[in-house]
This record gives sequence, C-alpha cells and structure tokens, in this order.
Amino acid sequence: MPEFEYTGFPSHVVFGVGTTERRQLARVIDGLGAERILLVAAEPEQALADTIADALSGRIVARFSHVRAHVPIEIAREAREAADTAGADCLLSVGGGSTTGTAKAIALETGTPIVAVPTTYAGSEVTPVWGLTENGRKTTGVDLKVLPKLVIYDPQLTISLPPQLSVVSGLNALAHCAEAFWTAKRNPITSLIAEEGIRALAAGLPGILADPGDLEARSRALYGAWLAGTSFASAGSDIHHKICHVLGGAYDLPHAETHAVVLPYATAVAAPRVEGADGRIAAALGAGDESAAEAIYAFERELGAPVSLREIGLPESELEHASELVADALGALPEPLSRAASDALLQAAFDGASPLVSVA
Ligand code: NAD
Repeated sequence: MPEFEYTGFPSHVVFGVGTTERRQLARVIDGLGAERILLVAAEPEQALADTIADALSGRIVARFSHVRAHVPIEIAREAREAADTAGADCLLSVGGGSTTGTAKAIALETGTPIVAVPTTYAGSEVTPVWGLTENGRKTTGVDLKVLPKLVIYDPQLTISLPPQLSVVSGLNALAHCAEAFWTAKRNPITSLIAEEGIRALAAGLPGILADPGDLEARSRALYGAWLAGTSFASAGSDIHHKICHVLGGAYDLPHAETHAVVLPYATAVAAPRVEGADGRIAAALGAGDESAAEAIYAFERELGAPVSLREIGLPESELEHASELVADALGALPEPLSRAASDALLQAAFDGASPLVSVA
C-alpha cells in the first residue's frame, strides 16, 4: 500500500429523522452545558428554527437572522456584535452553508462553540473551513475554532428544500466526493468516505425528485452530504473547486449550479490521472461501462440539473477571458493544463457538450 496521512476532525454527530424534536435535542445540547444560545437562522428558515427554539425554551437568549451568501464582512461584524451583546456561550445555526458560515464567522473571533443543524446538502457543518467576503473578494481559511462541536442531521428539516435546489445542492456534495478522489491529500480513508457519499447521493437525489417528501430519499441525500463534507474536510479541494471559484468570482455565477455544470468536465480531466479513481466514481454512481465523467453527466441530465455555463449566465462574449482565468488557475497543477486544453474544456462546458473533450 502507498504511504499516506489522514486527519479526521472531531465532532459529535447525531443523525436521524426527528433528532431535532424536543427530548432528543435537549439531551444532546445538555451535554454541551450551553445556557445562553444565540440562534443563527436566515429569515426564510425562521419557521424551521422556531420548532427548534421551542424545544430549547429559555436557553435561546437572542437570534441573528441577517444571513447573506458568502458571509460579507459587514454581516460577520454584525453577527459578532449580536453574540457579544447576548453574552452567548453557544451558537446554534439552523440553515444552509451561508448560515453555518455566519456562525463560523463569529466563532473564528470568539471561539464560541457551534451546534450546527444543516438544512441543505452543503456540508460546511463538518469542516474547519471558514469563508468571508470583503470588497467582492472571498477569503477562506482553516481554523479548528470554527468546526461545529455538535452536528444534528434531521432529514425532516430538508423536506421544504425545493426539489431543484435539493438537486443542485446535492450535486455540490457530489463534487466534494468526486474531487476527494484526486486531491493531493487524498488517501484510502477519504476515498472510502467519498465513495459511500456518492452511493448515498446517487440513491437519494432521484428519490427526492420523484417525491420531495420521501424521508428515506431525504435521509440518504443528507447522509451523503455529511460524507461529502467529511471527505472535503480531510482531502481538501483541487481543480474542480479552482475552476468554480474563478468562474463564480469573475462572473457572479450561482454557487451550486456552477459546481453542477463544471463537475463532469473537471472529472474528465482529473479522474483518469489517479489510478482507480475513474472506475470507483463511476461504479458508485451505478454506471456500466461509462467513464466517471460520462456517468456524472448522465446523472445530472437525469436530474434535470443545469449542464451548460450558457444557461447559468456566462455571456458567450466572455468565453475567451474565462478560459484565460481557468488556464491561469490550472497552470499551477503538477501537470499543468495548456491554454488549448482550457479553451476546449470551457467551450464544452459552455455548450453542455459531451464531457469527453480532449484536454491532453
Ligand atoms: P445557502 O445557505 O445560501 O442556502 C440556499 C438557499 O436555500 C437559501 O435561499 C436558503 O434560504 C434556502 N434554504 C436552506 N434550507 C432550506 C430548507 N430546508 N427549505 C427551504 N429553503 C431552504 O446555500 P448552501 O448551498 O447551503 O451553501 C452554500 C454556501 O456554503 C456557499 O457560500 C459555500 O461557499 C459555503 N460552503 C462552505 C463550506 C465550508 O466548508 N466552509 C462547504 C460547502 C459550502
């Protein structure tokens, strides 16, 4: 076997339908000794948060609802002030990645423990990664202070996530799993976690589309999202995230949709370069003879996800500039991609064409 290093991140995870109901929730929160909780939940998730607040009656001392995508620094400052004014000894975040990110922004400064109750498939709740946006630029970093101490996954809370949003959020999780197979920090453990994550997402997402209230499908998708976040936390990210980051940043493309569109093309480039990766990703998706890129592309089409950069808002006139940005980002790889390869990849992703584009 090859030599490898693996870092696992400590968090207590409670998973299951009904785990945010009164008795269960109070029991696990008791274990933390939290008495003055700041509830962080975005405006649209207030109704979900209310049921949890009821279960913790008396211990929620304040709420922060001014959540914004990618955590603008002004919002982070507001949230820190709210935690300070409330004298919070615990942050309870109920929501998607933007909400978890807001709680992380507070914890980064104060070290206050976070209890995360995710309601999407972003996976941020099991990573020590924080992100803040200042003057339109997103900075990310790693700090154990922001890793939630307790994560409560209750699939019931994801029932209200609309099917199409569930699909793109789930594909964002799939991207974390696939990428874990080819990052520099990959190892047998992260591959194992990612593989099971892909299997769970492949089983869950079509079920949600067929019936958004299907709790078994919701449970599988949420379990897959947890594994996706866990593999991302340990294996890190690579070319797929780099491409999404430069395109999303330069053209303000929607986060999860960009991941969905780029994934088959990044996979076509990266998966065949790591022994065993392509076959394992494809098999976990239940594919026959197809490559991992083809299997992901087919899965996304089956789910009705966006498959072209054109349809998510990249103007055709920007293709050349976009390719320059991508070529720059990929030029630092151990086997750098040429500008011609970046052109081919971008054009195919723009058109939503077959991912088996030649990028040699
Ligand atoms: P999000 O938190 O912005 O939520 C997307 C939308 O879904 C919002 O409109 C929200 O109101 C709505 N929503 C959330 N839960 C719902 C529910 N149960 N029912 C109905 N609507 C609901 O987006 P996201 O995709 O969850 O997270 C994306 C963010 O997370 C990005 O900023 C990304 O960078 C970050 N992220 C961070 C990490 C990390 O490790 N730090 C990992 C993954 C993602």
